[in-house]
Amino acid sequence: MKYSMGLLALAVGAANAAGVHVHGQSQLQVALDNDTAAVVWTTPANDLVGFEHTPKTDAQASQVQAALTRASQPLLDFSGACILTASSIENPFAEHGHEDEHNHDDEHGHDEHQASAEDAHTDFRIEQQYRCSTPPTEFAFTGFDGFYEVEKVRVEWVSANGAGQINLTADAPSTEIE
Ligand SMILES: [Zn+2]
Repeated sequence: MKYSMGLLALAVGAANAAGVHVHGQSQLQVALDNDTAAVVWTTPANDLVGFEHTPKTDAQASQVQAALTRASQPLLDFSGACILTASSIENPFAEHGHEDEHNHDDEHGHDEHQASAEDAHTDFRIEQQYRCSTPPTEFAFTGFDGFYEVEKVRVEWVSANGAGQINLTADAPSTEIE
């Protein structure tokens, strides 16, 4: 793994600090150096598949599978400067699905269960790595197509020469970088 550990720490901190998400709004962190780009996209499950619970029907399971497949493809288009070399996805439905449905008669767990029931939002976290033949000067976010409802992506990028923040939408999906 060639991830910048600094970027990952930054990304994890930013995601946690964001608190409860807003549907349609996701966070994208992009770290560039001379020949690599590391990307972390934290997005409400609703934006990708249209719901935030464990899939209950075959149709919903298919939606999750389609989203996972799309998310394994490039999320950024660097106009040919970089190609995708690695992608990983944290699927929240794969790991926690069964535990949530158990009903323990355990007073110790009561408050925690209430809290998680009220805060029933679920995120996907997708990490991608790109290798760049030349330092990219721009990128476009391609995830407005192929998912359920991705509306606004708040981008924070950092390169050897600068840093910036911008909100991208389907109508304005790209940004220049230094
Ligand atoms: Zn939500």
